[in-house]
Amino acid sequence: MARHSMEMLSFDNSYARLSESFYAKLNPTPFSDPPYLISFNPAAAELIDLDPDEAKRPEFAGVFGGSLLVPGMEPLAMLYSGHQFGVYVPQLGDGRAILLGEVRNERVERWDLQLKGAGLTPFSRDGDGRAVLRSTIREYLCSEAMHGLGIPTARALCIVGSDHKVYREQVETGAVLTRMAPSHVRFGTFEIFYYRKQYEQLTMLADYVISNHYPHLVEATDKYARFFDEVVEHTARLIAQWQAVGWAHGVMNTDNMSILGITLDYGPFGFIDDYDPGFICNHSDHNGRYAFDQQPFIGLWNLSCLAQALLPIVSKEELKTSLDRYTATHQAQYLELMRRKLGLDGAQADDESLVNSLLALMSESHVDYTNFFRALGDFRSTPGDQNESLRDYFVNRDRFDGWAARYRARLCEQTSSDAERCERMNRINPKYVLRNYLAQTAIEKAQQKDFSEIDRLLTLLQNPHSDQPGMDTYAAPPPNWGKHLAVSCSS
Ligand code: AMP
Ligand code: MG
Repeated sequence: MARHSMEMLSFDNSYARLSESFYAKLNPTPFSDPPYLISFNPAAAELIDLDPDEAKRPEFAGVFGGSLLVPGMEPLAMLYSGHQFGVYVPQLGDGRAILLGEVRNERVERWDLQLKGAGLTPFSRDGDGRAVLRSTIREYLCSEAMHGLGIPTARALCIVGSDHKVYREQVETGAVLTRMAPSHVRFGTFEIFYYRKQYEQLTMLADYVISNHYPHLVEATDKYARFFDEVVEHTARLIAQWQAVGWAHGVMNTDNMSILGITLDYGPFGFIDDYDPGFICNHSDHNGRYAFDQQPFIGLWNLSCLAQALLPIVSKEELKTSLDRYTATHQAQYLELMRRKLGLDGAQADDESLVNSLLALMSESHVDYTNFFRALGDFRSTPGDQNESLRDYFVNRDRFDGWAARYRARLCEQTSSDAERCERMNRINPKYVLRNYLAQTAIEKAQQKDFSEIDRLLTLLQNPHSDQPGMDTYAAPPPNWGKHLAVSCSS
């Protein structure tokens, strides 16, 4: 396995080779105070063949804090627009993110290296180009937590902090997150060229994305239609994964939707504690547009925006055919994931109702989503067994008993033993998720310059399905103070 120094990373900046109408070239702005390393993620370093010992060099914080460039980097801010809360905003773009370049690893995979919080760009509008420490910690940990859960996502390499002051509701300090993804192109990257009637650029962008990320379509005569069809598929599946794990994105604007169907732009996201389908994690989302149970519909709405942007290169009929497949794809994938969460083998007609009636009971009794599914692995299918510990999650025990009888009957048709089923379910139902209060604890310590909790959570969440000795408290539901933490976009 190759292990390179920062100076020897293998850059191949394909986006920078597109014309200047796609971006603005500029360097990151160094902090006014010296940068220092807050956390480093060796698992992400491996993806770009970066020697993990590089993090020990004093220059590391300079490079990933925005004050030093290494050979091969061609920094730029990407241009895009998008629909924010349902309203088209003609120009957004990377207002505080800077793409340093694309690193090609030994396996010939390409990874964007992007600094978030690295200073003003031509697209900063009223912002200051900075990110506060707390928001970088949340994005860093959640990116890796989602990856640990098997959900497609951008990754996170490190956080570099500084005492540089950043002004929000109160004075905070700035930090830079280095995130990595095969591409940061968004639905909104297509929208801007459509609304500006720059169809030549729109076509160039589609060709670029297809040749780099959908290469199997390059030769197809209907490549643009098939490209959109695959984006629909990826998005439908991604959102099914969010729903199954009980996660809400919080700001599903089209500028935050990845063209690859990966989770992108972590802001006021949240994992559900007590199950509530109407869960709103974004404090600024007063109407619940991005509530947990709206996400599948919003996915379709966002895809319709992308479809509109592709009208100059794909027929309306083809776009519509793909959009029409979204709901069925999403639902089939969601049901399949829920079957696995329940440990069901095969597929039966009644499974959907079994899942939905459980969720209704969980909502009625405010049952902890993660903990209950984890505990369900211990369900004993022996006739007469009351499954007391599971029963105790519910206010109305009789109704749980009714559901448990149906579940038992379904399990009894399977050949696997309870123990085998439990083992399978434990590989699907995580024990640990990034609950808001866990992130908050790491943030508060970090604000006092103790970064140990970030690293502890990183390691824990990279293996969310295994029992980790001494870490049981990290699986606990939130204490009272951690139940309704306000998280909003202004970070
Ligand atoms: P978000 O909701 O974080 O995805 O951001 C939406 C848009 O606002 C993007 O174009 C961001 O680059 C921009 N933005 C958010 N925060 C800032 C900031 N502090 N400075 C400059 N631009 C920002
Ligand atoms: Mg964004």
